[in-house]
Amino acid sequence: MAADSARWKYLNRIRQTAGPFNADSDVSPEALSMLDQAKILVIGAGGLGCEILKNLALSGFKDIHVIDMDTIDISNLNRQFLFRKDDVGKYKAEVAAAFVEKRVKGVKITPHNCKIQEFDEDFYMQFQIVVCGLDSIEARRWINATLVNMVDEDNQDSLKPLIDGGTEGFKGQTRVVFPTMTPCIECQLDLYTPRAAVPLCTLATIPRQPEHCIEWAHIIAWDQEKPFPALDKDDPEHITWLYQKATARASEFGISGVTYSLTQGVVKNIIPAIASTNAIIAASCCNEALKIATSAAPALGFEESYMMYTGDESIYTHTFKNEKKDDCAVCGNQAKPLRVDPEWTLQELLDSFAMKADLQLKKPSIRAEGKTLYMQFPPSIEEQTRPNLEKKLKQDLKLDVNHEVVVTDPAFPTLTFRFLLQFAS
Ligand SMILES: [Zn+2]
Repeated sequence: MAADSARWKYLNRIRQTAGPFNADSDVSPEALSMLDQAKILVIGAGGLGCEILKNLALSGFKDIHVIDMDTIDISNLNRQFLFRKDDVGKYKAEVAAAFVEKRVKGVKITPHNCKIQEFDEDFYMQFQIVVCGLDSIEARRWINATLVNMVDEDNQDSLKPLIDGGTEGFKGQTRVVFPTMTPCIECQLDLYTPRAAVPLCTLATIPRQPEHCIEWAHIIAWDQEKPFPALDKDDPEHITWLYQKATARASEFGISGVTYSLTQGVVKNIIPAIASTNAIIAASCCNEALKIATSAAPALGFEESYMMYTGDESIYTHTFKNEKKDDCAVCGNQAKPLRVDPEWTLQELLDSFAMKADLQLKKPSIRAEGKTLYMQFPPSIEEQTRPNLEKKLKQDLKLDVNHEVVVTDPAFPTLTFRFLLQFAS
């Protein structure tokens, strides 16, 4: 008991003392009990997620939920410290929740072994804060769009601060989004370079690197031959199929360096992870959560909202302010100018959407001036609209400057990307 109260002594001092940033009402018994009842959601129980769960529990959050669809792989054990060898094959969310609950008494952690897309707005509405420790841009964009959509001006509780951490090797970032009020993740999408930003035509015609051969096997050969009903990136048989395809293609073009593990790395988009970078970024995310929940000190968000940490050349950190974009597909309301070559075919235009840093769409469907030009689904419409892919934008499809183009993608069902066409001369 004595040891237990010693654990919370310093945290309680922060929580119970009014200061320059929090009023007496912020530290009243009512406010403190509200804080004890606050629900916080963690997305991801991997490298960042393990750290985040541990830190939140030790920061006084008592009702934590965690979502992760992945199971534990032996290669996770070097840094995902809540997992042991016996846990290999079990769900990350479940094992991480049980471990932290056992070590930090009085904390309840509810695991969800599934995709974030399986929950609707009612589920997300129950939380006060959402913290993301993800390695997928797509999942970040999805939760960002969902939280922005949920904001109802007449209901203050509908605004859920989103704290997002990310790492890559020695580099990382922490940012805080107050949906609709501060720049959202989609506004800042061009800060990420699309991975494997290789034009489809390079993959299809002149591969130069082993990665190009693997992406060719992954994107083109798999689609043409469909050796299994659906690609399971964790199934060694599927990876072996891709590896063999990529090897054959590489030898055809005199390229060396295709290996099984490179194939796995490219297909699963594996980012090198360093435990200490995860610890630094997770710690800063959790401090922001504590500050937002207690008002004990100003958090990232309304002024500066983005903290970058660079450790690959000595150490450098920088915190800066982004601007909200009026033409953001999630939180803005204007169409974005889109420069295209009028000589492009529709296929070339669609391919360009995968590579544009501020778009990164893999399965775009497109309408213009109220007319459907190409739809990925359902198959009957896909077939009807497929001949348009060969047609040139201006000459055949009669698209012109200032025509409005609307693009959608199944990865982001609530989003429509609106553009105003401009011709590159
Ligand atoms: Zn935005």
